[in-house]
Amino acid sequence: MTVDFNTFFNKQAADMRPSPTFAVMNKARERKAKGLPVFDFSVGQPAEPTPDYVFDELKRLMEDPATRLVMSQYSPVNGLPKLKDAIVHKFKDENGLEYAPDEILVSNGGKQAIFNVFAVTLEKGDKVLLPEPSWVSYADMVKWQGAEPVGIRTREDFKFTAETLAAHLIGDTGEKIKWIVLNSPSNPTGATYSAKELKEIAGVVLTANSNRIRPVMVMSDDIYEHMVYDDKLMNDKGVSHNVAMVEPRMKPYTLIINGVAKAFAMTGWRVGYAAGPKDLIDKMGEFQGLTTSGVSAVSQLAAAAALSPERKTEREAFFAAQREKYRERRAAVEEALAGDENLRAILTPGAFYAMIDASKLGIDSKTLATRLIDEKGVAMVPGDDFYVNPPEDKSLLRMSYATSVDTIKAGLAALREFAQEIAPGRDRSEPPAAARG
Ligand code: PLP
Repeated sequence: MTVDFNTFFNKQAADMRPSPTFAVMNKARERKAKGLPVFDFSVGQPAEPTPDYVFDELKRLMEDPATRLVMSQYSPVNGLPKLKDAIVHKFKDENGLEYAPDEILVSNGGKQAIFNVFAVTLEKGDKVLLPEPSWVSYADMVKWQGAEPVGIRTREDFKFTAETLAAHLIGDTGEKIKWIVLNSPSNPTGATYSAKELKEIAGVVLTANSNRIRPVMVMSDDIYEHMVYDDKLMNDKGVSHNVAMVEPRMKPYTLIINGVAKAFAMTGWRVGYAAGPKDLIDKMGEFQGLTTSGVSAVSQLAAAAALSPERKTEREAFFAAQREKYRERRAAVEEALAGDENLRAILTPGAFYAMIDASKLGIDSKTLATRLIDEKGVAMVPGDDFYVNPPEDKSLLRMSYATSVDTIKAGLAALREFAQEIAPGRDRSEPPAAARG
């Protein structure tokens, strides 16, 4: 008897859609392998390697017999004490927040921390509020638990207001909301909330929680906190604000998600962490113990080196250098699309993403992204994938500009050329302007 896996899979697996970002990234890789030109703006990771000081410290630890044993054995499920201490220090130093080591969980990337918390808190009937657009994985992970993602419409600057949030939290439907996801700076838009806006949002949550049968919690995903290009949107330590930083009464209702992936160019090491109320962290840790155990000890030691209080100088120098590069790349995006009649770059003050508004081309973002990679080798992620309810009147592309200025210039020239070729109303007997030079 052969197994028909279409009927063997459970409902969640049958309904699962592969990560659209990885799908575009894979197409880009396939083209590269064939020797075809590729301008890869798909993936959200720094183009640079992890800073040297992290590798140097790891080399030193590898020579030390005591650490060799630590590296060789299972690490505590919630994280190595050395790393947890460094994370506690980081929160105090950069965010002005006090956490005890038992309020921290180290996970296999921020992604696992998010999955853990949804796994231990959500069930059928629960709802999770997600700003639209927001990172694809939130909605998919919520659905995996049988819960329902609910999109909050945002303004032109991709931020939602305290009033819009308040409207979602009232009534019977509002009562079903268990989590509000805040991701500032945001993937995919780079939208970054000011301290004032966060204080207003915090006010709405606190008021709601004083009346609700069941509290609502905020998941503050701060993974892009160091990538802010407007001084007014960061604190004096150079990181963006979050609800617990601006309103201490929010701390019991907040779970912070963070990690070393984006800030330290360490996406491959797979180390993220969560900070929040101990009871919640304990349950997330129990679930992680059940599913994967502690994160690779070698990676945890590398993350501990990255965050180590003794390496503050090197760390800050790395952050400053990265921020400068992103500023330049962001400016290159702005310049490359300035004055284009078909495309508009929507540049926000955070992360390393730009949204490109291609609505004038009159095709949906999925078709557009597929044709772009197939016909021009330009890899961008369709904006529709970041919505719970994609807007019908918009066609957006997410562009990661964490790549070289040369790639940005050449890739956006190819994008402009493509847009001219397909723009409605163009006389197809004429070569596009870019081709004419
Ligand atoms: N949160 C957001 C908004 C992200 O964009 C990502 C990665 O793309 C993550 C969390 C997870 O990062 P990691 O699992 O690599 O730590």
